[in-house]
Amino acid sequence: MPTSNVPIKIGIVGVGKIVRDQHLPALAKNPDFRLVATASRNATVEGVQGFGTIEEMLDGVKELDAVSLCQPPQVRYCAARLAIEAGKHVFLEKPPGATVSEVEDLKALAEEKGVSLFASWHSRYAPAVETARAFLAANPPKSVQIIWKEDVRRWHPGQEWIWKAGGFGVFDPGINALSIATHILPKPFFVTSAVLDFPENRQAPIAARIAFGNADGPAVIMDLDWLQTGPQSWDIIAETGKGRMVLSAGGAKLALDGRSVHEEPEAEYPRLYRRFAEIIRVGVSDADVAPLRHVADAFMLGERKVVEAFLD
Ligand code: NAP
Repeated sequence: MPTSNVPIKIGIVGVGKIVRDQHLPALAKNPDFRLVATASRNATVEGVQGFGTIEEMLDGVKELDAVSLCQPPQVRYCAARLAIEAGKHVFLEKPPGATVSEVEDLKALAEEKGVSLFASWHSRYAPAVETARAFLAANPPKSVQIIWKEDVRRWHPGQEWIWKAGGFGVFDPGINALSIATHILPKPFFVTSAVLDFPENRQAPIAARIAFGNADGPAVIMDLDWLQTGPQSWDIIAETGKGRMVLSAGGAKLALDGRSVHEEPEAEYPRLYRRFAEIIRVGVSDADVAPLRHVADAFMLGERKVVEAFLD
């Protein structure tokens, strides 16, 4: 295990949008890590040794301590298994896998090999999330509405994998909402009904409406839509005995009864990498599958509606 004053040597797999937007800037500012290699079929990072595959990277840079896996979820399991078997700590972009069982399998393997596995739910690290969690712990919600509506053409241009089986469709952003909700709501909940809209030319949904409940907890209604132009909505609204709580901007802003109580620019990825360093130093894993399980349940229980074809 690396000691606290020696940087963790890390490699990134799948250099695409999120790596360029978030991972590279976060790693550049974090003295706990040193980016020493990448593995990507079509991309490299200037000044960093680049390989075409994870096998070549693991073989070529034996001193790697950790890897961040940022490819689409459908291909992440095999890479994670190779990395864990080679004794590396593993950061899984969200969603941590294409199925619940494969993530459970990785958790068991990481435990066996004595490395840290991190299912990095970035939205849980949004700045107002912990304040919302503390508020709801003290003021249990009577009802909860999750409204996650964005423009797929703006946020996922040309990403074919996201429309394929295992690509999650509108649940790719929707699982971020679930990662927050499973963290801030005081009681567990489960899917009770769902309707998923599949474009006639795609294997993944473009919109979904899901109801959750539990024996004695609040009703949770989730509305996902990928065709929202103009202002984007990433909101969780809870009615409580102390008034209405609105967690908005994907967890960056919090208002209680219309009064803003928290507003900070987003800094999720710097926090994520601090957490990854922490679990590596302490020697534990952090790999909650709750958000993924809800998505799996929605696909299992949900009615399917075929809607108009989606053209990028
Ligand atoms: P992306 O732009 O498509 O980048 C993913 C990269 O993975 C590709 O550029 C590709 O690089 C590599 N790759 C390896 N196998 C692939 C395959 N079979 N199909 C397609 N690409 C493959 O995607 P992204 O937006 O960065 O998202 C990657 C992951 O991060 C997803 O799980 C997503 O949910 C998550 N994420 C994305 C965002 C966001 O805002 N975009 C935010 C948070 C999390 P090479 O061709 O060079 O191998």
